[in-house]
Amino acid sequence: MRKMRRPMPERGHHLHRLERHRRRSACQGPRLDGRRVARKGVIMHTNLPTRRSFVGGAGALAAASLLTGCSSASHERLYGWTSPTSADAAAVPTVCGLCPEQCGLTALVKDGALTGLRGDGGHPFSRGRLCAAGYAYGDATYTSDRIAEPMKRTASGSWEPIDWDEAIGDIAAALDAAAGTAGAESIALLHDGRAIAAAYGKRLMHALGSPNVFAADRTGREACANVLKRTIGASRYVPDAAHTALILFVGQDPLGGTRPSLVATQTAAKENGGRLCRVSPYRSASDTLIDEWTPLAAGTELAFVLALCQVVVDEGRYDTSYLDASDEGFAAWKAELNEYRPAWAESLTGIPASDISRIALQLAEAAPAVSVVADGVSGRYANASATIRATALLNTLLGSWNREGGALAAPEAIFADPGFNALPDLPVPSAARLGDADYPLVSEAGASTMLVRGIEDGAVKSLFLFGDGCLGDPSVRAAGDGRFSQLDTCVFVGSVKPANDAGIGYLLPEPTPLESRGFPSLASGSVAIASLRAQAVDPVCPDARTIDAIVSDLASACGIGERFACSCDDVVAARLASVGLEPEDFAHVAFVPLPTQASVLQAGSIAFASDEFERAGLGQTARWIEPAVSPSSDQREFRLLADCQSATFVEELAQTERLQSISRECGLDRLWMNVSAARDLGIEDGDTVTISTAAAEASETCIVHTTPCMHPKAVMLPSLTSAFATSLAAEPGFGTTARDETLVFISKGGAR
Ligand code: SF4
Repeated sequence: MRKMRRPMPERGHHLHRLERHRRRSACQGPRLDGRRVARKGVIMHTNLPTRRSFVGGAGALAAASLLTGCSSASHERLYGWTSPTSADAAAVPTVCGLCPEQCGLTALVKDGALTGLRGDGGHPFSRGRLCAAGYAYGDATYTSDRIAEPMKRTASGSWEPIDWDEAIGDIAAALDAAAGTAGAESIALLHDGRAIAAAYGKRLMHALGSPNVFAADRTGREACANVLKRTIGASRYVPDAAHTALILFVGQDPLGGTRPSLVATQTAAKENGGRLCRVSPYRSASDTLIDEWTPLAAGTELAFVLALCQVVVDEGRYDTSYLDASDEGFAAWKAELNEYRPAWAESLTGIPASDISRIALQLAEAAPAVSVVADGVSGRYANASATIRATALLNTLLGSWNREGGALAAPEAIFADPGFNALPDLPVPSAARLGDADYPLVSEAGASTMLVRGIEDGAVKSLFLFGDGCLGDPSVRAAGDGRFSQLDTCVFVGSVKPANDAGIGYLLPEPTPLESRGFPSLASGSVAIASLRAQAVDPVCPDARTIDAIVSDLASACGIGERFACSCDDVVAARLASVGLEPEDFAHVAFVPLPTQASVLQAGSIAFASDEFERAGLGQTARWIEPAVSPSSDQREFRLLADCQSATFVEELAQTERLQSISRECGLDRLWMNVSAARDLGIEDGDTVTISTAAAEASETCIVHTTPCMHPKAVMLPSLTSAFATSLAAEPGFGTTARDETLVFISKGGAR
């Protein structure tokens, strides 16, 4: 294949229309609610790649993206930031602050402005790769849709600037009124999972007396960690890619399979002769390294895994390292597995029983240098956690834990000191968080589905949204346009104006990760690391304030300022000290390895039987749980799957004009449909179709991409932007939003 050079941005007087628009926007400020709003002191950098420059790459690569896969290199050409000025720019080591993966990257900076970005090859997990969002990292800083100063919605619904003191005073008064009339628990906060938003958001809510703090879980990562912790005692595991014989992926990975740590794992496995297999309802365009793909009916991954367990046990091919002869839990599960034979699983999954047996025996043959990974199902179905639980037990049967080539239980990495311990203890709110009583296995993140329902039924009157990413939470997306309209007060703290700002009363500007120093955070895989970002570029919006400053000011205005009477620098230092580090350790680097070892799983720590699962109604042993919905035999009915493409899962980027254009060029707004199932309905590639729910309460049109890489009874939207893309179904026991529990009808035609 001929290697393409990515065209450079145009400069000077040959500016494209978009470039001119950006420059006008820089002077005039964003168009908010139909009118221009003047900005104070905003300096917009105009070295964004122009539309013309990227379309050359995007147009040429679009077909490749859809049909043959979109590699990390093509992602860089499509989304990346490289300009002619990068050559003599300073290299600033940092980490991507857009999601919890925190991939390593290097920002190229000249005169305080970003001129380029590249992955950091020294990062132990991402190994020089970035996803589409990471390559487009700079767009969030230089978009013309930045929130440049505090804004307040007027009675007429438009936005007007307001100074910080007035905004903080107004909001404090509203909180006081809400607490007085509906109780402190009527105040809630949803944060985007960043360490600083989590730390300050939780402390603010608890200081106000509310337990209602929730974290957005855009990719199901938190939910997966929660069920693993309860099953094997470790929150995460990774394949030993350098020595593996076989990795089996169950379900499709988040970010369309482009998560840098995943790609690095797959690449290392292939380079070392390992085999990669996937069993999933569709094969992502990025799954270019997979050797064997087996389609199955969406929502039946659990049946497939249980049948693998049954074969391994029935054939006596299981490892006994974690079995105690007197382990009644295993004995009970072993008996129950008899119900889950391959023929039974075939009737649900559609995978021939002979293939299920073959895959099980291949795993047993290669064990212990094998691992089975199912984090891709997390957050999709009502039985997603049960699938992750059964998969962890399958790895146990295969004897894979911490064996060469097997599944490495990631070190547990937590700060012993959250950083506020020098201050007086906070009283724990007496009321239970919304949803916690209904979902006893809920994760630390909380059940955001219950937050949305709390808003709908009036239990929540005031809401803080901390960080652009919280709007990407599946339940917030599922709640649709009117999601915040019933609130008395809704405050959004972020860097980019939300595409849908309905119901939001205040916009408070926050610097982007590139513009501000980070907050310590930890990540683990085969090793554990601590990260602390340096500020990389000059602030574009000088009026923006960091979360800690906003919370401290708000707390003072609410009369609880003493709860935050320590500087953020002190909090940072205390957190780092609790893992044996200090801020100076990050003077020239953005991440530091921690001297922790892989989690050692103890015999007896593997929960073959679990009372807490039993109490939550999920069975004492891992068993079959029906998905919430299943498509009927009606040819027009399908399960709708919502992918989480790396180009669109980061809210503050997805709405920028450049990313939206690339997404359209790459067909990310197209509905994936099995080519045979489409033909049965008279639908061809490129046709317009109407998607509607069974009750026809909602419908939408889109263009179809037909492919053999899709199960015949499922359709998939690569982007989460559709109103159909998520359901508000909550997973039993856990409360996790099950975003793929939606049935739709597809028909040819429709206005578009
Ligand atoms: S996965 Fe993408 S968005 Fe997340 S940290 Fe890595 S590069 Fe950034």
